[in-house]
Amino acid sequence: MNFERFLDLTLGPRYVLHVIECSVCSFDEVYYSHPVTHKTIGRACSNCQFLQVFEPSNPAKFHVPQAFSIHKQNSETWDVV
Ligand SMILES: [Zn+2]
Repeated sequence: MNFERFLDLTLGPRYVLHVIECSVCSFDEVYYSHPVTHKTIGRACSNCQFLQVFEPSNPAKFHVPQAFSIHKQNSETWDVV
């Protein structure tokens, strides 16, 4: 699963709220908001393959009932922390 696809599944519809420098890798860390509610729904760094979800918009599809953080470990598995 590629990172964008993963974001689609976990965050769903979204727009970029703002971009800051990632504290881990200095690449872009992107904050996303929901297009309808305008709530901040999560942040992600595609270089670190890091995602933190504040408000899962698609819990039934991805089986995540609440906020979580995740780091990609390899191409197939995701380690929820
Ligand atoms: Zn990073």
